[in-house]
Amino acid sequence: MAKLYFRHGTVGSAKTLNLLAVAHNYRQQGKEILLLKPELDTRFGREQIKSRAGLEMAADILLRPDTNLLALDFTGVDCILVDEAQFLPATMIEQLRDISVNKGIPVICYGLRTDFRSNLFEGSRRLMELADSIEEVKATCHFCNRKSIMNLKHVNGVATVDGPTIQVGAEETYLPACYHCYDSHLAAVAR
Ligand SMILES: [Zn+2]
Repeated sequence: MAKLYFRHGTVGSAKTLNLLAVAHNYRQQGKEILLLKPELDTRFGREQIKSRAGLEMAADILLRPDTNLLALDFTGVDCILVDEAQFLPATMIEQLRDISVNKGIPVICYGLRTDFRSNLFEGSRRLMELADSIEEVKATCHFCNRKSIMNLKHVNGVATVDGPTIQVGAEETYLPACYHCYDSHLAAVAR
């Protein structure tokens, strides 16, 4: 059995850059990796996994809600890397868990822990429940020097908890924030 990893961090924590570095290292060693991402993330074009730092690689498999990973052939694959894993349904996290155990392929998932309302994403919740290893990719609060743990949404420069949870690539901005700054920015709007 191989391990299932969940590496979570806020926006701006260079999760995708971390993923691409891991992918690069595997490929340097002549190993076979598969890059997966949910189809709904259209920020940088459908098939690219691209970090804010500018590096990118093509995704091998775009995951739709009805994708059955267990029906795919993973022969010869040394590692599976998943970007934006928070958006996956719980059942797909369970399929990845199954692949790590029964096919012996390590699966490394990167994603946000919580949405801008501070609630766990479905995929992240299941990863918290099933992963062998849960690691935090750290980033600093946009407003102070504490570690960020929240994702603060701004629309037209105003902090908000309104709008749909999944709105990738929209015009809203998301900022990494410590709890103190997250709370005080939202409280200032509520007054
Ligand atoms: Zn702060």
